Amino acid sequence: MDKALTSPMTLTFDRDFDPRYGEAVELLPGVRRVTAANPGPFTFAGTNTFLVGTAELALIDPGPDDPDHIEALRRAIGGARVTHILVSHTHRDHSAGTERLKAMTGAQVLAAGPHAFARPPHAGENRRIEAAGDTDFTPDATLADGDIVEASGAGLQAIATPGHTVNHIALALLDEGVLFSGDHVMGWSTTIVAPPDGAMAVYMASLDRLLARSEHRYLPAHGGEINDGHAYAEGLKAHRVAREAAILEALGRGHRTIPEIVAAVYQGLEARLAPAAALSTLAHLEDLIARGAITADGPPALSARYRPKDASPDEDLASGSS
Ligand SMILES: [Zn+2]
Repeated sequence: MDKALTSPMTLTFDRDFDPRYGEAVELLPGVRRVTAANPGPFTFAGTNTFLVGTAELALIDPGPDDPDHIEALRRAIGGARVTHILVSHTHRDHSAGTERLKAMTGAQVLAAGPHAFARPPHAGENRRIEAAGDTDFTPDATLADGDIVEASGAGLQAIATPGHTVNHIALALLDEGVLFSGDHVMGWSTTIVAPPDGAMAVYMASLDRLLARSEHRYLPAHGGEINDGHAYAEGLKAHRVAREAAILEALGRGHRTIPEIVAAVYQGLEARLAPAAALSTLAHLEDLIARGAITADGPPALSARYRPKDASPDEDLASGSS
């Protein structure tokens, strides 16, 4: 998201990042980053692939299906043996390069599972907001919450962090205080939580999961590292709580449709980000319905009308009921 989507609270985004495309950038001993050249409104400077280990490597997130990126990874791998390819979640900007990377390395592909929806999609629902879900992806084996993968003696532990997608995992580098946070927590932006891929309630619970752990140094799949991950995750939580409150306030003022709510809540929104804001708002509205705070006329969808639980239809804004 852009500055227009920052909350008035303490959350500050860090967009100062040099991707150094094609280079293997050492972040700490045994951890290097190669950033793919797939910049965009939802990928920032591009997707980060991490190489963990020395003589044996585990690679985290192959990135897009881009021969130049895979070639950069081949140079970074050098003579090392790649034992595992770990995939944080099944969006194409993370997983589409898996087949090329697997063909080159012979490594085992591990992820939480194939692409799945947080809930069944409604008819005609726009699902192509970020890099689309990678329905071609199948892991060789699945990683359950708490599973540990070894690479050159380093332990990488899978942490189930659904929300951005239902199959999202973060990976903790045990004994290093480092967490590969994928798209769940990123320093340059909030995370897209867009139904039907994503769901707000589990996203918030997944922030709490990270806060219950000891790691503070986060290495996200897009952009630079986060040095105080706990403070930042708290800021993300506060941002969502404030956004939810603003949505409830807009409903209380009589706004009933998602476009009306977005216009009221997201001041100065760039037009290209309006679809993402609409889906984020939908994620909040679904959560509010599940908690019994609001109702919708029919299944919650981008086209539905929403109202506070106790509001009657004649309290709707006359002007906003188109
Ligand atoms: Zn993603």
